[in-house]
Amino acid sequence: MRYYSTNKNTPDVSLKEAVVKGLAADNGLFMPERIEKFEPAFFDGIQDLSFQEIAFEVAKKFFGEDIEEAKLREIVYDTLQFDCPVVKVTDSIYSLELFHGPTLAFKDVGARFMARLLNHFLGKQEKLVNVLVATSGDTGSAVANGFLGVDGIHVYVLYPEGKVSDIQESQFTTLGQNITALEVEGTFDDCQHLVKTAFLDEELNQKLVLTSANSINVARFLPQAFYYFNAYARLKEAGKLDNKKLVVSVPSGNFGNLTAGLIAAEMGLPVKQFIAANNENDVVFEYLESGEYKPRPSVETIANAMDVGAPSNFARILDLYKHDHAVISTMIKGYRYSDEQIRAVILNVYKEQNYLCDPHGACGYQSLSEYLAEDEIGVYLETAHPAKFTETVENVIGKGKIVLPEKLADFMKGEKQSEQMTKDYDNFRSFLLKSVV
Ligand SMILES: *Cc1c(COP(=O)(O)O)cnc(C)c1O
Repeated sequence: MRYYSTNKNTPDVSLKEAVVKGLAADNGLFMPERIEKFEPAFFDGIQDLSFQEIAFEVAKKFFGEDIEEAKLREIVYDTLQFDCPVVKVTDSIYSLELFHGPTLAFKDVGARFMARLLNHFLGKQEKLVNVLVATSGDTGSAVANGFLGVDGIHVYVLYPEGKVSDIQESQFTTLGQNITALEVEGTFDDCQHLVKTAFLDEELNQKLVLTSANSINVARFLPQAFYYFNAYARLKEAGKLDNKKLVVSVPSGNFGNLTAGLIAAEMGLPVKQFIAANNENDVVFEYLESGEYKPRPSVETIANAMDVGAPSNFARILDLYKHDHAVISTMIKGYRYSDEQIRAVILNVYKEQNYLCDPHGACGYQSLSEYLAEDEIGVYLETAHPAKFTETVENVIGKGKIVLPEKLADFMKGEKQSEQMTKDYDNFRSFLLKSVV
């Protein structure tokens, strides 16, 4: 399978090249040249397959031409050493819990898949491969943990100083080994800008092998389609789809997760409607309403993994639907919530349904409760465990109510190691050159 750039100003590349490069030479994002559909019969029997079996079938559609079947199976099964269950919240709203992986957020799926795929492609590469990743909180931990201890790869995690929770920070600053955390004086967008500038810096790329592990990388982004199929299968298995149509709500920041869902739909997954649930960083919401896309600096909210002012994957959505606003605004409904609304939702769902949402999932839940019609069933992506945002959530439901899962408690015991960095590109560049030799 070949991969083209959304900017269409550079030749197509192989999967390996797309994964190693991350971003296309013309600054566009890679897209697969074809999206292969499943036969309807696949969906008739999908409820009899396990999550791993489903994921392997989906992976073959993406990567089957490029990776030998046994190897691909090994990568998929090894990536998915944890479940993504669908849990009932109300009679019509279900939570797709994506927080059962090692860092308790959905990014574990893509990051673990990418680490294994990159390792497969690089084999015995002579030169060290440097993975640069900008994070607003959860990407850094998922990528750092996905790549921890992998030979021949060094990971640099760039994060905005003071803008991620202590728990998030501990998950990528305490690891050591092949992981370096860079604490940037600035916002997530500044971190993302540093990373993107480095990829386009030709001289730097001649000296160092650089790759990205942000959701712009196809090896992180495509595997996120796996759990949409699983959600459908599990609801079908439970008889919930017998006379109801499925609506899926995705708490969105950089829009990688939602785009993977849209690709699943292009492959034939029967989803009636997608919802993009946003916090006050609502540039896509505004686009859906008005047809005008106006990126602007992000603002801080309590759903900080969605504090993105210029979502990278929006370029993929435009490309997928040929920049047709009418089509895009039909495929995706937008909702946006203030911090105050998010807090009210967390409290309400906790009290009324005895279910604890994290601040991101709360946006997804609320959009469904506003959108759903009688003949519809909704599933929202619970993108992280609420304990990752203990302070925020306990401010709402009361102190001491959240038990820290053991996996998180272990991270908190480690010692923080990080390098301070300004948002100035030249500084970052010389740091990389210095530390890599
Ligand atoms: C990254 C993240 C999001 C946003 O996902 P995108 O794919 O960037 O839209 C939402 N919630 C949580 C908890 C996240 O970590």
